[in-house]
Amino acid sequence: MDDGSPLFLVLLGAPGAGKGTQARMLSEKWGIPQVSTGDIFRGNLESETELGLLAKQYMEKGELVPDEVTIGMVQERLSHSDCARGAILDGFPRNIPQARALDDILKEKGTSLRFVPYIKVSDEVLLARLSGRWICRQCGAVYHMLYNPPKVPGKCDICGGELYQRPDDRPEVAKNRLKVYFEQTAPLIEYYRQRGLLVEIDGEQEIEGVQVALEAAIKSHDCP
Ligand code: ADP
Ligand code: ADP
Ligand code: ZN
Repeated sequence: MDDGSPLFLVLLGAPGAGKGTQARMLSEKWGIPQVSTGDIFRGNLESETELGLLAKQYMEKGELVPDEVTIGMVQERLSHSDCARGAILDGFPRNIPQARALDDILKEKGTSLRFVPYIKVSDEVLLARLSGRWICRQCGAVYHMLYNPPKVPGKCDICGGELYQRPDDRPEVAKNRLKVYFEQTAPLIEYYRQRGLLVEIDGEQEIEGVQVALEAAIKSHDCP
């Protein structure tokens, strides 16, 4: 980064707000990793690790995986050498204890969050985004059947992998995830606002528009 200090960025927003989509674009542009707790859990689920089996019980109901598991996993991930210049966190923190734990992890690294973009999207739009979301089984790229369709239906533009719909995007589970979001994650908006870190981004623009707004916020906070 410009001044040599690492850039750890948290993307805050409800399920379906576009965090994963934006995190992936920023990660490619800056060459710093995207750390998505949902992706890590899904990867473990796919390879049937102990962590995956544990996470599955929570994910299929749309509940949060317990903090001791999630925080330890993020701490471990951020200790890898590829995170030396920073990381884009997508899906973490998701409650106040996780936010406090992240503050401590970054403090240990001699750094802190410079600002926190909150990607704001209304409830109706969130449900429409979740119900049309398709993911590549191979590379994790995210599509939407209406708003960001693949060139060939059912196939990933990037790697040709098979696209699938997440079981937790079904309306019953998606509704519970939004409930959990409002109860446990939305309080983080105030947590970061009180610390003077919150920057609201209009998440209802097109994907490119959100990217431009995010980059402008990043520039104005002396990031790269
Ligand atoms: P999150 O990681 O916050 O849950 P995603 O990035 O997975 O959100 O996006 C949710 C769905 O909405 C995906 O199908 C994605 O293609 C689509 N999407 C993301 N950003 C936008 C946007 N700005 N406008 C329309 N659709 C979007
Ligand atoms: P979305 O961005 O659409 O909300 P994610 O892929 O981030 O979905 O998360 C999927 C599921 O993984 C969550 O519903 C939850 O069960 C689990 N999960 C992801 N991140 C966390 C976290 N930080 N803490 C606890 N559980 C998490
Ligand atoms: Zn792919």
